Amino acid sequence: MAKLHQHKKIVNLDVHLEVNRRFAQNNQRYSMKRQAIVTLLEKSNRPLTITEILQRSQNLKSNKNVIVQSSLYRNLLVLEEVGAVQRVFSTDDLSRYELNEEILGHHHHMLCSVCGDMRDMIIPQQLEEKINSTFAHLAKVSGFKLDKHRIDLVGRCKKCA
Ligand SMILES: [Zn+2]
Ligand SMILES: [Zn+2]
Repeated sequence: MAKLHQHKKIVNLDVHLEVNRRFAQNNQRYSMKRQAIVTLLEKSNRPLTITEILQRSQNLKSNKNVIVQSSLYRNLLVLEEVGAVQRVFSTDDLSRYELNEEILGHHHHMLCSVCGDMRDMIIPQQLEEKINSTFAHLAKVSGFKLDKHRIDLVGRCKKCA
């Protein structure tokens, strides 16, 4: 059975320190608003839509970190450019955002084909290794240079089942 849990335990690094490093490399400023977005994504156990990020930012205690839609778009773009955040796609046409896999740790997603809900899924290490060696073999015989794999499970979430 695939287990769902927080990612923080997988990759043992300080998320903000790593994101800050990426900002510095790109000569961009890791502003408070950008830090607030990263914190929201870090606390979530699944990718978030623009609407969800806005809603969650409304609930922040510090008003200074409340994000308006126009600035969220701009900041997400920069976060994507420096390699802090990545955009992922479900079965609907909404963009969802999560921390870059290098920061968050390797994982997969379960997608609901009815409502578009997207959950993180972590495959047990042993199976992950088996998948990797199988894919490496398949790639090799096709003369394909494999960098990584992406696997989604598509079905219906608890609400839509
Ligand atoms: Zn659903
Ligand atoms: Zn995998």
